[in-house]
Amino acid sequence: MAEKKTVSAAESTRRKKTTAAPSEAGKTTVAAKPTGGATGKRVGAIILWVLAIACEVLAILLLFGKIEIGFMNTLVAVVILLVLDLIFVVAGSLLWKQANHIDPASEKNKTLFWLWNNLGLIVTIAAFLPFIILTLSNKKADKKTKVIAVAVAAVALIIGGLCSYDWNPISAEEKAAQEGLYTDEVLPEATVYFTKFGSKYHLYKECQHLNNSDTVYDAAKGQTGDDASKSCVEIAINNGCNDVCKTCKNKFEKELEAKKGSDEKKEEENKTE
Ligand SMILES: [Zn+2]
Repeated sequence: MAEKKTVSAAESTRRKKTTAAPSEAGKTTVAAKPTGGATGKRVGAIILWVLAIACEVLAILLLFGKIEIGFMNTLVAVVILLVLDLIFVVAGSLLWKQANHIDPASEKNKTLFWLWNNLGLIVTIAAFLPFIILTLSNKKADKKTKVIAVAVAAVALIIGGLCSYDWNPISAEEKAAQEGLYTDEVLPEATVYFTKFGSKYHLYKECQHLNNSDTVYDAAKGQTGDDASKSCVEIAINNGCNDVCKTCKNKFEKELEAKKGSDEKKEEENKTE
């Protein structure tokens, strides 16, 4: 399904290009990928996190000799389980963070806001710390096994924690404010642009901060399927771009002021005539 959409996106890009305004020349943009709703992502995150904890429990049972697998060395099996644990935790956290951009929490209660945004971090700790503590307290396991198992779990805990922490959170209030400020009607180019790893969205395609990006996403072109009813800014925020680029914002405000000035001038002229 994703493939289908990419094709149609490419087509729409081509179509647009043939009728492109002069300002569209140069950079090619592609349709923003649809992000859909938050609920499915939250359910997916929780399932992945449960799988992660299950891997941890299995690793603990193996190390304590409660279960055995004949065909594989215990330490190798434990390391494999810890790696799977990490993959499930991080995949779940990424889904969770995306859901929080689509359907952000209120920041009225700061503690709850932090906990909700960083649930992935909390799960990461739950997915590795008990294993580390129990392994260290395990008197039966030999020293080499213990050291390797704890080292792997500690590295996984750090990587998982860094990936799960929300470095760029947004609240329901902030999102509403952005959407209110830059409605589709006031956008200078009737769309906003953003890049895959950027944290800001842009109001002008020519913005210097977009120059180094091979792929620039166009929110208006992404208004299809599940995202058809979303505003351009909402699509950008759903993709992790929380705020407007400062350069674009300044340019937009200057243009707005110039327009206001010329409108006033016209009014004055009309009055004097
Ligand atoms: Zn910009």
